[in-house]
Amino acid sequence: MAVLVPLSLDEAVDALAMRPGALVVAGGTDAMVAINEGHLPVATGGGPADVVSIDRVAELRTWTHDPSAGTVTIGAAVTYTELLADPLRSWLPALAEAARTVGSPQIRNAGTLGGNLGTCSPAGDGLPVLSALDAVVHLRSSAGERQLSVHDFMVGVKRTALAPGELITAVTLPLLDGWQGYAKVGVRNAMVIATASACLAVDQARRTVAIALGSVGPTIIRCRDAEALAAAGVDWERGTAPGSVLDDVAAAAAAASRPIDDHRSTADYRRRAVAVMARRLARRAFAEVSG
Ligand SMILES: Cc1cc2nc3c(=O)[nH]c(=O)nc-3n(C[C@H](O)[C@H](O)[C@H](O)COP(=O)(O)OP(=O)(O)OC[C@H]3O[C@@H](n4cnc5c(N)ncnc54)[C@H](O)[C@@H]3O)c2cc1C
Repeated sequence: MAVLVPLSLDEAVDALAMRPGALVVAGGTDAMVAINEGHLPVATGGGPADVVSIDRVAELRTWTHDPSAGTVTIGAAVTYTELLADPLRSWLPALAEAARTVGSPQIRNAGTLGGNLGTCSPAGDGLPVLSALDAVVHLRSSAGERQLSVHDFMVGVKRTALAPGELITAVTLPLLDGWQGYAKVGVRNAMVIATASACLAVDQARRTVAIALGSVGPTIIRCRDAEALAAAGVDWERGTAPGSVLDDVAAAAAAASRPIDDHRSTADYRRRAVAVMARRLARRAFAEVSG
């Protein structure tokens, strides 16, 4: 097993071009567990793989702000701890809230947003936020660069649109004017994989509300009906929402979920948790008024 440690993005792409079956390792918090348990990602063919370690690639460890576009582009190897530092924390509060719930300080110091995307677990805490913000995923291989909507990147349970030999280099997110937040339910308060999770993001300029759910379907689910009900029902001038609209948003979010019974929870509990989280998030975004 060869372990390659590229120091630039070009070197990383070259290393993967030479060994398209190699396992990319960023923080290793999912990859090392998979190796230890003998569950290597499908791209490696299930057997022992060479490793391309990307945590020293400076281009992947930085973020850039484009004020004219109103976006921030976050390198794939930026860690959760780094997402919790300003200005990213105040620009992207829902992403920071999600990052704060990931594992322990050790996991947050090593684990990366790119690794969350690479694993593409429906329980990945970063992913509902990327979905609600309509993130664009930047990919690069020796064949060139491409960009995919995060909705097209996430294909199914731990399945992505990543091609062999391709790296996630970054994600671009809009900096919205409007409240955004993340909620997560688990079997305890810390060091827990989500039983159900939700992100709500308001775009005050466009008068839209985005709601995305985690851990209640094969991949992240956008709640288009709930979003439309929220956008039509809130008072955009006052920043308020009638209780009946919050109830309708909660019910529509629960209806959009596709939960299953498994070792972590039941489908019924998850559906109920989605309704509670969606209502609470909407009420944090828009003050509840009677009606
Ligand atoms: C104790 C523990 C607790 C955890 N708690 C949580 C939690 O609360 N919430 C949560 O969401 N996750 C949790 N995780 C899972 C994990 O920490 C996250 O999914 C993390 O984001 C993975 O990032 P990483 O950099 O460590 O990825 P790695 O393990 O390095 O890689 C993960 C996968 O993505 C691929 N990959 C990584 N980077 C790239 C790239 N740039 N291009 C292409 N492919 C890439 C790898 O090949 C691999 O298949 C936990 C893990 C552990 C061990």
